[in-house]
Amino acid sequence: MPQESLDMLDSELVVRLRQLSHIALDMDGTIYNGDTRLACALPFLEQVRELGIGYSFVTNNPSKSVGDYLKKLRGMGLSVDVDQLYTSAMATIDFLHREHPHVRHLFALGTPSMMDEFAAAGFTFSTDDHEDEPDAVVIGFDLTLTYARVCRAAWWMVQGKPCIATNPDRVCPADQPTVLVDCGAICAMLESATGRAPDKVLGKPDPDMLRGIVDRFAIPYSQIAMVGDRLYTDILMARRAGALGVLVLTGESTRQDVEDAAKAPDLVVPSLAEFGDLLVWAKTNGDA
Ligand SMILES: [Mg+2]
Repeated sequence: MPQESLDMLDSELVVRLRQLSHIALDMDGTIYNGDTRLACALPFLEQVRELGIGYSFVTNNPSKSVGDYLKKLRGMGLSVDVDQLYTSAMATIDFLHREHPHVRHLFALGTPSMMDEFAAAGFTFSTDDHEDEPDAVVIGFDLTLTYARVCRAAWWMVQGKPCIATNPDRVCPADQPTVLVDCGAICAMLESATGRAPDKVLGKPDPDMLRGIVDRFAIPYSQIAMVGDRLYTDILMARRAGALGVLVLTGESTRQDVEDAAKAPDLVVPSLAEFGDLLVWAKTNGDA
């Protein structure tokens, strides 16, 4: 990192960098693109470990289980344990336990992987039968969606059941010639049919996605950096939660997007490589 760029850092930012004890990392566009790991990912995690800073991976995609993500990340050579992953499905489970402790029986639109996570957390599932009354409806990024189940979800929404969505994304990034209709679009269809939007939508930019990390590692939001490539999810959540928002330009956002943004990130870096160098500099340069 050239000295002149370091001199331009504002002293408040340097103080915040020094205070960091945990890095929450977005995945797609930040540590990999599709199935290709970014070259900066491994050296960055090594730097972070050497500095004694913890890290975890957060994703809005509830369709894969923690086990699926562990497999993917480890397959890319990344060192990650089960408690270093937090998905929007886990945020939904934590939210239900915290805010709706009586809810046990769900009508859920989700993949088998997502259903397994909910089952492991003690939930049971209502079948597509009007006599099998659920306590709540959960809408996820369901790649196995069927018409009959959409209609049943709409029915229970009309009956006034609490309705929780795992994530707001309307589409999921695709590397194939298709549009992956995501949870936000499924919710829009159900809202059109029922006149009801979900009562709560987890996933970035909802700060409850970071709350999972705060609760798990017992650290304050002010000691967390949320690093990601999207202004309206990763950075917006960081701002809402009071965490440091670090935008990398290895994914969706461009410098122009940053200039056009109503609320700027705390820090913009070309990639994790420059952020790692900055962290090392801030943590090892006393009162410079
Ligand atoms: Mg991303």
